[in-house]
Order: sequence, then C-alpha cells, then structure tokens
Amino acid sequence: MHELSVAEAILDRAREAAADHGADSVETLTVELGEATHINADQLRFCIETVAEETPLSAVEVAIERVPARAACDCGWSGEPPTFDGTAAVVPSTRCPECGSGTEFTQGRECRLASIDVPADTQTPTER
Ligand SMILES: [Zn+2]
Repeated sequence: MHELSVAEAILDRAREAAADHGADSVETLTVELGEATHINADQLRFCIETVAEETPLSAVEVAIERVPARAACDCGWSGEPPTFDGTAAVVPSTRCPECGSGTEFTQGRECRLASIDVPADTQTPTER
C-alpha cells in the first residue's frame, strides 16, 4: 500500500527533525498533501498513526494540510485543473481547457513533512 511507505518516510523525517530540536518525541506533525497526489488524506493519517505506535512518536497528532492542485499548459493557460471535484479519490484532469493538450502540474504533487511541534519542555534548554 502506497500510503504505508509514505507514512514511514514522513515519520523518519519527523524523528530526524525532533532530534534536531533535541526532542525525542513529537506532539504534532503537519503533512503537506497535494490534491494531485493519489494519496488519500484519511488513509495517510491512519497509516502514520499506526506506524507511529511502534515508535517513540506513538502519541503524535497528525495534521494534514491540503495543497490545491494547479496546472499549466504550453499554450499559456494555467490554473486549477478544470474537472477536479475536490474529492481525494478523483485524480485531477491533466487536459488543458483552452487547447485540450496535456498539462503539467505546477502544484499539488506535494507529500512531505511540513512541520513538527515538539513538547514545550524540550524547547527551553537555557533553563539548565
Ligand atoms: Zn493549452
């Protein structure tokens, strides 16, 4: 399942980012998920939480930030893919509404760790 490998990669990144902050746990992780990906947000959240149960991040809250799909065409058209209906199960059209040729997504392919929140007490090393 695609979501599972994505979830593992995001958790790896979250652990690295937590280590950079001197933290060994993460309260919240935020994932940027483009609407032109084939990834279902609810499934991805479920996979991250499931994989996290085996790790020090077992209590993590998962926030998904949707990135709208945008596409551009060689003829100069750019915008939101026209037949995209906003549901995660539907892959946006890649046809240009002006000339009918194939378009390239310029935005909406994202699937990455955007940010993490670490527990507050690990962010104040100067008190020691
Ligand atoms: Zn076009």
